[in-house]
Amino acid sequence: MVVITLQRKKCIGCNYCVELAPDQFQMSKKDGKSVLLHSNDKKGFFTLKSHDELIFEASDNAAKACPVKIISVKQV
Ligand code: SF4
Repeated sequence: MVVITLQRKKCIGCNYCVELAPDQFQMSKKDGKSVLLHSNDKKGFFTLKSHDELIFEASDNAAKACPVKIISVKQV
């Protein structure tokens, strides 16, 4: 299983994650911050759990590219 977490409040809206993992991230037109698609919000930490292992690589690249390091991607 792949677990992706986004600490959304700290997003600076650089768009890198959307470019690298467009199936998982989208920019919000409302506040200009990244949205982790199909995720659940728990006190500002948005989490997506997926059985699709194919999303790991792109999401991991997004996590590595994020300048404020608010994306975490784990394979569990
Ligand atoms: S890479 Fe990080 S800072 Fe940039 S839009 Fe995505 S979550 Fe926000």
